[in-house]
Amino acid sequence: MSLVTIKAQVHADPQTEAVLKDAMFCATKVYNGLLWHLRKEYKETGKVDISRRNLNRILKELPRAKGYYSMSVQLTRDEVREAYRSFFALKKKDLTRHSAPGFRRKGYLSPLKYVQSGFKVEGDKVTVSLGTGREDGVREVSFRISHRPGVQYERVRELSITYDKISGRIEARLVVEVKANPRPGTKRAALDLGETFLMAAAFEDGTVLLYSGRFIKSVRRYWQKVRANLKQNSRRWREVAHREKLQVEHLLHVATSHFIEECVRRGVGEIAIGDLCGIREGIDYGDKLNQRLHAWPYRKLVSMLKYKGALAGIVVRDDVDEKNTSARCHACGRVLPSNRKHRGLYVCSCGWRAQADVNGSLNIFERAYQVSPVKGSSGRVARPVVLSLRLGWHGVHEPERKGKTLRASI
Ligand SMILES: [Zn+2]
Repeated sequence: MSLVTIKAQVHADPQTEAVLKDAMFCATKVYNGLLWHLRKEYKETGKVDISRRNLNRILKELPRAKGYYSMSVQLTRDEVREAYRSFFALKKKDLTRHSAPGFRRKGYLSPLKYVQSGFKVEGDKVTVSLGTGREDGVREVSFRISHRPGVQYERVRELSITYDKISGRIEARLVVEVKANPRPGTKRAALDLGETFLMAAAFEDGTVLLYSGRFIKSVRRYWQKVRANLKQNSRRWREVAHREKLQVEHLLHVATSHFIEECVRRGVGEIAIGDLCGIREGIDYGDKLNQRLHAWPYRKLVSMLKYKGALAGIVVRDDVDEKNTSARCHACGRVLPSNRKHRGLYVCSCGWRAQADVNGSLNIFERAYQVSPVKGSSGRVARPVVLSLRLGWHGVHEPERKGKTLRASI
C-alpha cells in the first residue's frame, strides 16, 4: 500500500463556494490571530511558547475558530507551530537574516485540512464538516470533485480544500491509498531533469532516453509573453495563467506516463531523481518568486512520477544530491564546469564526449546506486545508447529523425 497525493477541481454551487471561502478566511484569521498573540507574548516576556497547550489556550480567545471544523482548526495551529519551528531552526544557523513568521494577507484563503475525520468521499461527491459553531448555522457542505480519469485508489486518508490564487478556483488535494503492483521489477533507473531535455533517463543496461523539453519551453514562453501585456492578477491574466498551467500539465502527463510505461517494460523497480536545486541552470530568473514559478513544472513532474510510479509498484526517490552532476565527467570523474561546451555537448580532455544531459543522468545513476551503467569492472567506459523522444501536441511521440539524434561517444 502506498500513499499518493492527487489534485482535483472542486465544483460547488455559488452558495457552497461562498461558505467554503468564508471558512478558509476564518482559517487565515485563526492563523494570524495565533501569530499576533505569540508576538505580543514575545514583547512582554521575551519568549515564544509554541506548545500545544499554550496555542490551545489562545485559540479559545479567537472567535473565528468557530468558523470551521475543530480538527481543522488544530491543523491550522500546527501550521503556526511548523512556521515557528523552521524560523527557530534558521535563526540558530544565522542570527541576522531571518524575521519571525509573517501574517497571511487579508485576501489569502488558508487551506481547510482534514485528516481521517470530518469528511466523506463517495464517488465524486465530497461532504465536509464545518463544525457546530458557525454563525450562519451551516454544519456541513457538499460538492463534486473531478480529477484526471483513470485514477484509482482504495481509500482517502487526508483531504485539503485549497484556493488557487492564480486561477481563482477552489481545489481539493486528496492523500489516497493506492494498491501497488505486487510484482515490481528489480532494475534501476536515474533521472536528470532540465530545460533542453525535460528528462534524461539512464537505465541499468546503459541506455539513455531523452525527452525533449522544447514544447514545454515554447508553451511557457508563449503564454508568458501574452501575460506580460496584461494587468497582473486581473481576471484575464489569471485565465491565461490557468491555460498555460493546463497545457504544461498535459505535456507533463504525456511524458511521465510514457516514461513509467517504459520503466515497467524494462523491469525497473526504483527510480532516483536528482534534487531540484540544479534546475535554475543557465538562466537568470531573478527574484525568488520567479525561481519558484520556474521550478513548478519540475515539482509537478516529480509528484506525477511518484503517483504513477506507486501505481506500478516503482519506488521514486528524489533525494539524490545533484551537486556537480552536470559538471563532472562521467568517464574520469573530474569536475570541470568548463567542460560543458555549447550546444549541450560535454567534452572532456580524457576523451569522453557526451550530450550534457546524458552525462548528467549517468552521474546521477552512479551517485544514487554507487555503480555506473556504462563502466565495466575494468573501469573501461562503454558508449551509452541514446534514444531521443519529442513530445508534441496531443501526446504524439515522434522519434527524432535519423542524423539529428544526439549520440554520446568516447
Ligand atoms: Zn574526463
